[in-house]
Amino acid sequence: MYGFVSSSLIMALIVQKYGGTSVGSIERIRTVAERVAKFKMIGHQVVVVLSAMSGETNRLIALAQQIQKEPDPRELDVLIATGEQVTIALLAMALKDLGLKARSYTGSQVRIVTDSAHTKARILSIDEAQMRADLDSGHVVVVAGFQGVDEMGDITTLGRGGSDTTGVALAAALHADECQIYTDVDGVYTTDPRIVPEARKLDTITFEEMLELASLGSKVLQIRAVEFAGKYKVKLRVLSSFQEEGEGTLITFEEDSMEQPIISGIAFNRDEAKLTVLGVPDKPGIAALILGSVADANIDVDMIVQNIGANNTTDFTFTVHRGEFKRAMDILNQVKDEIGAREVSGDDKIAKVSLVGVGMRTHAGVASKMFRTLAAENINLQMISTSEIKISVVVEDKYMELAVRALHQAFELDKAVA
Ligand code: ASP
Ligand code: MG
Repeated sequence: MYGFVSSSLIMALIVQKYGGTSVGSIERIRTVAERVAKFKMIGHQVVVVLSAMSGETNRLIALAQQIQKEPDPRELDVLIATGEQVTIALLAMALKDLGLKARSYTGSQVRIVTDSAHTKARILSIDEAQMRADLDSGHVVVVAGFQGVDEMGDITTLGRGGSDTTGVALAAALHADECQIYTDVDGVYTTDPRIVPEARKLDTITFEEMLELASLGSKVLQIRAVEFAGKYKVKLRVLSSFQEEGEGTLITFEEDSMEQPIISGIAFNRDEAKLTVLGVPDKPGIAALILGSVADANIDVDMIVQNIGANNTTDFTFTVHRGEFKRAMDILNQVKDEIGAREVSGDDKIAKVSLVGVGMRTHAGVASKMFRTLAAENINLQMISTSEIKISVVVEDKYMELAVRALHQAFELDKAVA
């Protein structure tokens, strides 16, 4: 049936968010209008949240950078919020052209109030009264994603990819039955199909797993949107706006589903670099000193490994975002003598590969199977870290794709759990 909604409600309130490629041209905008119309026709109330046309936000940022290398954040928000204002107006017109009642609103008009942290603002409150009144009078409400307004009335934006967060936040505020994120993929996959052609679309994934996958660099959903959905228990579904059929991937809360696969997906990224401080004195305060100097420079650290000491010294390794590698190296070289370290070394040709699955909680042996699989391919593990539902390893980056393929096969992720 067209217009799948997980709750069996006849008349549901649905928030639909369409990304940049889904509204990238007039033709695509018309296609979105037709999809919205079908949902309206079967009796649902629909709030639509839109991104800017694909490429538009980048284009606007590039314009600003021609004037200021680091554009003034307040003015940058005024500029980049325009992208979404274009698409909402065009979609509202397309809906009216189909004979529907529709109204477009900017973030400030629907009172998406945020803090004043320009270009990365957080939503404080949403006034849903106007949207409710419109929905009750049969309108489709079309809201600009990615933007809000602070208490002073200044335009703010929520960070790149932020219209996902707008969608989820509106769904939470309106107690929507479902928040549907329409994108250019038809759901969440066991891993990137460009690397593993056998990768399988998941019908469901738990919120916690999605959070891990999003934070590990799977770009399907903005991580803040996933966090928001978790906090307010918003039912989220990822679907393709390019396909008529298909139920996408539903992000569930673990209690909802009985049997979980042990592993749901494999994430990977090449965004990190590794730094090692060799021969540091094995005494209290050293980790604080090393990481403190890095944190003071506002550099985020991801994985950390400290070896057991030998001869009263130890080695200390951690990873940072690849873009911060040089800065972090410079800092370590500066503090090297203060710490009493023998040597500082670094490597930015690394990749992180992670297995994610809530089933790990109740199944032993996942790590050993992972390590055996990688050993059989002669892949050396440079670092290992684990959490309750995730095991990550750092490998040389030229082995990343091989590692992902081998693990996908070993854990039989191409096969659906019976
Ligand atoms: N247009 C904004 C961006 O490109 C927000 C979004 O698309 O979610 O980041
Ligand atoms: Mg996006």
